[in-house]
Amino acid sequence: MLIEEFELEVFTPPCEPGAERYAARARLSVDISDVLPYLNATLHGGTYHPAAGALTWKKGGHNIAFHAYEIATSNVEDRQAAEKEIKGLIELVNRTWERRAEIQPDTSTRQRPTQMALYQLLPRTNCRECGEPTCWTFALKLTASQKQVGECPPLLRPEFSTNLASLHNLMGDFPTIK
Ligand code: SF4
Repeated sequence: MLIEEFELEVFTPPCEPGAERYAARARLSVDISDVLPYLNATLHGGTYHPAAGALTWKKGGHNIAFHAYEIATSNVEDRQAAEKEIKGLIELVNRTWERRAEIQPDTSTRQRPTQMALYQLLPRTNCRECGEPTCWTFALKLTASQKQVGECPPLLRPEFSTNLASLHNLMGDFPTIK
């Protein structure tokens, strides 16, 4: 196991005193830099920054960052959830490290598609079937991994089949963990 022990810190971000959301970080006793290219290869939607020795990832509204000696997450509803989230990320790192012989490491930096690029491929009717007030809002939530392409029902119609394929292509690096 790569990470066997860590110090957990759960706090309210200093820029948001009194906020009802929490951030958490685990300070590690081992350097996890070597696992980052493996995470980059398997973690859809992550952005690897080789020069900074960091990998960032947006997952379900949380901003997550992996550094050499630290794993951090933000925007968690309570302390218990923050602790659970960090422990899940540590398990993810350990699991990925154990599987490294099966993974082709990836040191490239992928760019996330922009809100505008995604919006232009949506039906742009603002029909609200996805639960969002506009297609623009839906596109924003796609960029933040808070929505998935399949949550826009009109995209399943034959006339949007090309748009759907293009969106899947653009979002291919996103949804979840392989
Ligand atoms: S369901 Fe699709 S077309 Fe309708 S508002 Fe949402 S994103 Fe736009």
